[in-house]
Amino acid sequence: MEDKTIFEKIIDGEVPSEILYEDAIAIVIRDIDPQAPTHALIVPKKRISRIAEAEEEDAVLLGKLLLAAKKFAKANGLDSFRLVINSGHQAGETVPHLHIHLLAGRPMAWPPG
Ligand code: 5GP
Repeated sequence: MEDKTIFEKIIDGEVPSEILYEDAIAIVIRDIDPQAPTHALIVPKKRISRIAEAEEEDAVLLGKLLLAAKKFAKANGLDSFRLVINSGHQAGETVPHLHIHLLAGRPMAWPPG
């Protein structure tokens, strides 16, 4: 068994974090190093290391994570927001536990850096 990721420790209550939303499948937390006025992370309770390792059996879970992001945006009055998933080192992944970044509150450039 691999060591727990920081997100599993937060899910298990071993590391404190401000949990903005929680349901049976996911938590939403504020990013510790925010890159926008709103920077939340939607984190599934199931450990999937990264989107590149998701399986067919995760299809419903993946859809629910996107819906959780939408609900979070709506509940917080965010008309405009960006969702980001980094998969792999070169893409910027630093925590090997799938999560969706939700960024909002400032203009966003395209393409991303
Ligand atoms: P990644 O680089 O893997 O796409 O995103 C990982 C994110 O987790 C980063 O934006 C980083 O700031 C955030 N992060 C790392 N450690 C912690 C932590 O202990 N608490 C919270 N809330 N966020 C964290």
